[in-house]
Amino acid sequence: MKILVPVKRVVDYNVKVRVKADGSGVDIANVKMSMNPFDEIAVEEAVRLKEKGVATEVVAVSCGVAQCQETLRTAMAIGADRAILVETDAELQPLAVAKLLKALVDKEQPGLVILGKQAIDDDANQTGQMLAALADLPQATFASKVEVADGKAQVTREIDGGLETLSVTLPAIVTTDLRLNEPRYVTLPNIMKAKKKPLETVKPEDLGVDVAPRLKTLKVAEPAGRKAGIKVPDVATLVDKLKNEAKVL
Ligand code: AMP
Repeated sequence: MKILVPVKRVVDYNVKVRVKADGSGVDIANVKMSMNPFDEIAVEEAVRLKEKGVATEVVAVSCGVAQCQETLRTAMAIGADRAILVETDAELQPLAVAKLLKALVDKEQPGLVILGKQAIDDDANQTGQMLAALADLPQATFASKVEVADGKAQVTREIDGGLETLSVTLPAIVTTDLRLNEPRYVTLPNIMKAKKKPLETVKPEDLGVDVAPRLKTLKVAEPAGRKAGIKVPDVATLVDKLKNEAKVL
């Protein structure tokens, strides 16, 4: 069984992003970029399934600018066998990515597609669900455990107040939650090995997909800054302020 793992290049989670002066978006010039953390978990899970003998091949896919090659090399250093870059400078919204992935699902015929539950830049949480709809495949989102046997995946999901276990017939779409696994550290020998693994580049036109944005961002703004606090001399003043100023007592 082949597993397809879409990986997104996003602003590193340690970076504090700044809103552009014209409010049109966030400034990503000269900012550290990394693989979306949920996608690292997805690659790790796919590689573990291969190590268990459940999967035979792990294919990483990234859609975006040429630098996404670095993200794909990281996926191959974790253990993916090969990679596909769908190269475009266009702004890609979740629907466009889902259409590109649908075209690759048709071409590659994977038994499982494991995506992150959301990309930490736009927090859309849409691509996996849209892909499942477009490809007409069953989906199990927010997975905290995945077991594959007899043409089915048993997926434990994190839901409000507990866990739910689903059985989906393969091929299927799974999206990862934080507790699914802890991705391994990428070692230098594996980084070196990854440089030699195959990386194919295609364009959206080659896949027959129109990636034109369907949504327009009207404005991006920083959250309002918090007001500075004050020190109160004693408990009586605190209680007075909570009662009469904050009106929470
Ligand atoms: P989102 O719906 O944007 O929150 O993203 C959910 C998941 O879809 C991510 O964790 C990735 O697995 C996948 N994804 C989104 N955008 C891309 C992209 N440009 N290239 C590859 N995978 C992507």
